Amino acid sequence: METREMLIGGEWTGAGNGQLLEDINPANGEAVCRFPRGDATDVDRAVAAAREAFEGPWGRMAGPERGEILRRMADILESRAEELGRLETEDMGKPLTQSRDGDVPGAAASLRYFAGLADKVEGTALAAPAGYVGYTVREPFGVVGCIVPWNFPLSIACIKVAPALAVGNAVILKPSSNSPRTALELGSIGLEAGLPPGALNVVTGLGPEAGAALAAHHGVGKVSFTGSTEAGRALIRASAGNVKKLTLELGGKTPNIILPDADLDMAIPAAARTIFLNSGQICTAGSRLVVHRDMKEQILGRLVEIAGNLPVGDPMDPATKLGPLVSEEQWHRVSGYVAAGSAEGARLVTGGGRPDNPELADGYYFAPTIFDQVSGDMTICREEIFGPVLCVQAYEDVDEAVRIANDCDYGLAADIWTTDVNTAHELAARLEAGIIWVNCTNVVGPWMSYGGHKQSGLGFESGGDCLHEFTRLKTVVMDITGEPNTWICE
Ligand code: NAD
Repeated sequence: METREMLIGGEWTGAGNGQLLEDINPANGEAVCRFPRGDATDVDRAVAAAREAFEGPWGRMAGPERGEILRRMADILESRAEELGRLETEDMGKPLTQSRDGDVPGAAASLRYFAGLADKVEGTALAAPAGYVGYTVREPFGVVGCIVPWNFPLSIACIKVAPALAVGNAVILKPSSNSPRTALELGSIGLEAGLPPGALNVVTGLGPEAGAALAAHHGVGKVSFTGSTEAGRALIRASAGNVKKLTLELGGKTPNIILPDADLDMAIPAAARTIFLNSGQICTAGSRLVVHRDMKEQILGRLVEIAGNLPVGDPMDPATKLGPLVSEEQWHRVSGYVAAGSAEGARLVTGGGRPDNPELADGYYFAPTIFDQVSGDMTICREEIFGPVLCVQAYEDVDEAVRIANDCDYGLAADIWTTDVNTAHELAARLEAGIIWVNCTNVVGPWMSYGGHKQSGLGFESGGDCLHEFTRLKTVVMDITGEPNTWICE
């Protein structure tokens, strides 16, 4: 079996402790490679290498040149789409049709978008009083940590790494231990495209070890993190030592509200797509379907039919729509939630465990699952399941729909289906979420800001504004009178 190394200061290296982890293919439970179990010592080495790059050739490079390198990275990424897609699919189980045709182009799009902003990091002239000139500049933090999850390993890495590099930071990327390989390839692609050694380092390992060390390191000015709310809280605590700046993209429990006037031919397939795509392992998955009481049976009937016909299987098969869950641990977690749903009185309508197909017995597959008669106090309605499990709740009027939707600790996204433009705007204003999708769902791209309210996050990423997340503001004020200010002496 192949043993991979991580990237520090342009050199491929093992962990200082010599330890390795195994990367498991969730489609069959077999290990595909070993990779370093990096820890605080390796993070120390990576921070030193990143600092050297920042104070050296990378820090001195002009914006247009940085942009050119990011564009070259995008070109290389696209030229290797098939290979990168296969690595991603083997690592975390999503169908190849999604990893190769969706995630890799999406990652390249982020690199290109932020390449275009690399020479547009601007400050402002201040309205200073007479006798003074004042202006602000935005400058890089220096060393930035990017910690990413396994559900969109390459595309989330690029959503962070591209803007961080575009503005001139040196980066330490820490991928999930479930999906390290495309991050390592990204490191290699960066070197090939012309990044100086140390500008992009990739440290593999476990969250509570390598991730926590990055969060706590005093040499790191900023961490951009995507992952669970629980780990986000740990990050806030760990980063307090040097009052590190944080962007946190955390969990979600997206309400998907279908109003009585909705176009059901649009809304129903989308309701299935938002919860079953990537086997429900999407932070913005519409996991709570909020439907009008009078329409519930009709909508539920069509959803059950769609769920029953979804091809679950080998993620390398072009016909597959749902691959396995990422790991055995995740399979048991989802299974535990299904048991809790039934025990707490929700009605299991379809799915609930392994698909019938005996050929899938070795993988961590989970059948599309729907619960009806879900109430707001149930565990399956309050906690993020991160699997293909839909909870259906009924409402009587719009006020109740809003109440149900907002009765949640999370506030990442909300979907609204209506043909009435006034209702759309009214609900968009009343729903407590960072992203509102009207008559669409999970539409994302580097062009739009992305982030959560309530316990779904801190700060926003993506979109032009996110350059602010990767730079710090500095104010410069200058006296132009040339006159001494003698007040203290008088
Ligand atoms: P996770 O929190 O377990 O891990 C995410 C990353 O953080 C991994 O690289 C992990 O190694 C690292 N990590 C874990 N504990 C850490 C710690 N104490 N200190 C530092 N780093 C640590 O999440 P996951 O299981 O990989 O991903 C699923 C979660 O990510 C879900 O909750 C999902 O909603 C969330 N997510 C959010 C968004 C968003 O944009 N809001 C997008 C994708 C996924």
